[in-house]
Amino acid sequence: MRIFKKISPFQKHLHQKKQAGARVGFVPTMGALHDGHLSLVRKSRRENDITVVSVFVNPAQFGPSEDFRRYPRPAKKDILLLKKENADIIIYPSVEEMYPRGYQTFVEVKGLGQALCGHSRPGHFKGVATVVCKLLNIVAPDRIYLGRKDAQQVEIIRKMISDLNMPVKVKTGVTVREADGLAMSSRNRYLTPRQRQEAPALYRLLREARKSIMDGERRAPVIGRKIRAGVKRQTSGRVDYIECVNSKSLVPVKNLKGKILIAVAVHFGKARLIDNITVNVE
Ligand code: AMP
Repeated sequence: MRIFKKISPFQKHLHQKKQAGARVGFVPTMGALHDGHLSLVRKSRRENDITVVSVFVNPAQFGPSEDFRRYPRPAKKDILLLKKENADIIIYPSVEEMYPRGYQTFVEVKGLGQALCGHSRPGHFKGVATVVCKLLNIVAPDRIYLGRKDAQQVEIIRKMISDLNMPVKVKTGVTVREADGLAMSSRNRYLTPRQRQEAPALYRLLREARKSIMDGERRAPVIGRKIRAGVKRQTSGRVDYIECVNSKSLVPVKNLKGKILIAVAVHFGKARLIDNITVNVE
């Protein structure tokens, strides 16, 4: 496994591999790796000759009052985990390497970036799209691997790739969960023991919502109210949003029809947790 901090030697090294005909899969991460990230590395390893993983805590996607400074950065552990998974190349750039003094260029996916998390995290997806665009230009992979836990991010990156004619295929991986259903997240470590006990309620409530829809419920507001009541009854969390949206356009749907994404964001103390589930409504 090769680790690069600088972009230029990384590109030279990868160029040689590409010249030899290697197909490249790319997994962007912010580190603090868990099995969700590693499942994407495994998928990329299965489908490509070379797997590149980036580890970069991207300041551009954190709001001024968010957790950029205290975001976990267990560098040594991350590298060990990636070694174990036989990732081929790690790109581990500094903030200065990615955003040198005088940096001015940003990418914004307008509509999709304003839905769901866009309301409470203005500028977040502009930061995400910018860094992923830069990383795609740096790595120029054949395939990019993204987790469906961040369903909005997946749709935004898909749209950016299509709008900007970027020659890369998007592959997604299912949400990897703890045994009790809580979606794995680098931010779960912010939870107190009590919050950690309560947090699996989110996925339980999403599954119950999906069941109600399968049993015939078609009124999105009813589904939303049920989940909200459950969060209130079963946890100390504070709801940011609970929404039923079209899974591609992320536009809210009142009468459930087609492929629906039920997405939630709930604050548990210092942690803001997101989760989602999809339902195919006939
Ligand atoms: P992050 O480090 O949070 O930026 O995430 C890097 C990638 O891992 C993104 O594509 C995420 O969607 C994905 N990811 C994060 N958590 C999970 C999870 N629990 N299951 C599957 N993929 C995940």
